[in-house]
Amino acid sequence: MSVSGLCQICESRPAQERCDNCGTLACEAHYERDRGLCADCAARADPTDHRDVDVNRF
Ligand SMILES: [Zn+2]
Ligand SMILES: [Zn+2]
Repeated sequence: MSVSGLCQICESRPAQERCDNCGTLACEAHYERDRGLCADCAARADPTDHRDVDVNRF
């Protein structure tokens, strides 16, 4: 998928991908291709962090 616009996390690089979870546009540095998540969501969904993550926060 190709997207146009700036990374919504650093707002300084062109976005490469769109987060599958929240739809945020992210540059390569802020996108985890393995998970299809932006850096924000990847951090929140980090499997090493086993708190009760409220993934349903909207
Ligand atoms: Zn970025
Ligand atoms: Zn996201």
